[in-house]
Amino acid sequence: MTVPETAHTAALDPQRSPPSTPERATLSTVEERVRAQARERLRQAEDILRSIDAEWTPPPYDPLLIAQALGIRCVPVNVPWVQDAMILVMGGEPVIYYRPGKDEARLRFSLFHEIAHTLFPDFRFNPRYDAAHRPRLLEPAGRLEHLCDVAAYELMMPMDRFRRDLAGTCFGADAVRTLCLRYGAGEEHVAVRMVETDTACYCVSRLENARTTRQDGRRQMRVVYSMATTVCRSRGFTLPASLQLPRRSCVLLASRSRKQTAGEEVLDLGQGRLQRFRIEALPLRRGVRRRGLSPVLAFLYPLST
Ligand SMILES: [Zn+2]
Repeated sequence: MTVPETAHTAALDPQRSPPSTPERATLSTVEERVRAQARERLRQAEDILRSIDAEWTPPPYDPLLIAQALGIRCVPVNVPWVQDAMILVMGGEPVIYYRPGKDEARLRFSLFHEIAHTLFPDFRFNPRYDAAHRPRLLEPAGRLEHLCDVAAYELMMPMDRFRRDLAGTCFGADAVRTLCLRYGAGEEHVAVRMVETDTACYCVSRLENARTTRQDGRRQMRVVYSMATTVCRSRGFTLPASLQLPRRSCVLLASRSRKQTAGEEVLDLGQGRLQRFRIEALPLRRGVRRRGLSPVLAFLYPLST
């Protein structure tokens, strides 16, 4: 089997950060439009599916069902050039090839990402649907991929429903696994969505083993990425990149024990600025464990000092 000429490979990366450009404000407006378009497309699919089966009550939203309702054929394959999912244009019609795998949540997001490509007008007509071959609309800064992720979140966890469900749970790390089950989503994707609801003042960080040298035998956790609500950012409670947490941090305990832990800790936000946080540390189930440490998702709530 050869790679069809109009192919686009899924670029699923839960750690992909939004493009950092001076036109951030403009991009936010575009993101809002893309979210609205994705929600409208999902509504159309819901109407069709309900007319077929009145008992159908999402969430979770099944990307294969949604794609079917939107006229996008999905084909399972086992070929090396499809890692998660890939949208093609064949005979003028969209087709998604996907590889059924172990990580269902990752695949679901990837499928929604591919469905999101159909929101953009050039997907049908671009002679080579592959950003590697030539610059595309909104490229080369990776914006198209970012916007497809934005839409994928809306298709997988539409904000209006997600807000209602989040309000009905215990907020924070405790809510993550409940919402993962409800939406068939991964822990990091749910955490991103929680930050996007923009309620309260907190940030969420992924931390991993700091990979200290074998000789010193130390084990520390460092920040890989952080996301913060608007109020948290405006008050400057953001964690510097590569911040290493104290060795007695509850984050390290959660990482080692693979059990959720909590605590209050003072962190150095840079330039000697110390801030006390309440921390909830959730070890990631699917993360790769290195030197006895699992990656951790930490919810950090700034406390008054
Ligand atoms: Zn893509």
